Amino acid sequence: MSQIIIALSKGRILNDTLPLLREAGIDLLDDPEKSRKLIFPTTHAAVRIVIIRATDVPTYVENGAADIGVAGKDVLMEHGGGGVYEPLDLGIARCKLMVAGPVNAPAVQGRLRVATKFVNITQRYYAEKGEQVELIKLYGSMELAPLMGLADRIVDVVDTGKTLKENGLEPTELIAHVTSRLIVNKAAMKMKHAVIQPIIDRLEAAVARRASAAA
Ligand code: AMP
Repeated sequence: MSQIIIALSKGRILNDTLPLLREAGIDLLDDPEKSRKLIFPTTHAAVRIVIIRATDVPTYVENGAADIGVAGKDVLMEHGGGGVYEPLDLGIARCKLMVAGPVNAPAVQGRLRVATKFVNITQRYYAEKGEQVELIKLYGSMELAPLMGLADRIVDVVDTGKTLKENGLEPTELIAHVTSRLIVNKAAMKMKHAVIQPIIDRLEAAVARRASAAA
C-alpha cells in the first residue's frame, strides 16, 4: 500500500481537525503537545501526519511533500488555491474574514491604509471595489495597527469578535466566510487513489454525521 502524509495546521485548526480525523479512523500515536517530533505515525498503517504552520500547508501539498492537507479557506485564498484539489469543506474552525476599524471611525480622507497579513486577498478585495488603498504587510497582532496610528483599517479573521472589541475596533465589511478545507495534491490523487479516496469518503461521512447531529 502507498504511504501518505497528511499536513495539519498548528493551533486552533488542529484542535478541531484531530477529532474529525479520529472519527475517520486516523489517530495520532503520540501526543503532539508532549512530543517534539515533526512527523507522527498514526493508527492507520499507511498514514503519517506532519503538524506545520497554517500558511505552509498549501505549499507542502501543492509540491507533493504532503499528499493531503487541512487548511483554512483564508490561507487557501491568500496562497491561491489553484494548484491543489479541494474536495471537502470540513465545516470546522468557522470564522469570517473581515475588514475592521476603530469603533465609529470617520471616513478617511485620501488613501486608506490597510494593515493585514492577507495582502493578496486584501489587494483583490479593494481592486474589485475600484478603491486604491495602501497595503501594510504585518505578520501578527493586526489589531494593534489602528491603535498605534499605523493603519486606518485591518483585514483579519474574526471568530467571536472579542479581540476586536477589547481593542476598540469593530468589523465593518465581510470579505468571506471561512472554514477549514481538505486539500489534496493533484498527482497523489491519481497515483495514491486507493489510499486517499477512502480517507476522503470517511471524512465526508464524519462531516455529514456532524451536520445532521447539529440540525
Ligand atoms: P475572536 O474570537 O474574534 O476574538 O478571535 C481571536 C483571534 O483568533 C483573532 O484575532 C483571529 O486572528 C484568530 N482566529 C479566530 N478564528 C480563527 C480561525 N478559524 N482560524 C485562524 N485564526 C482564527
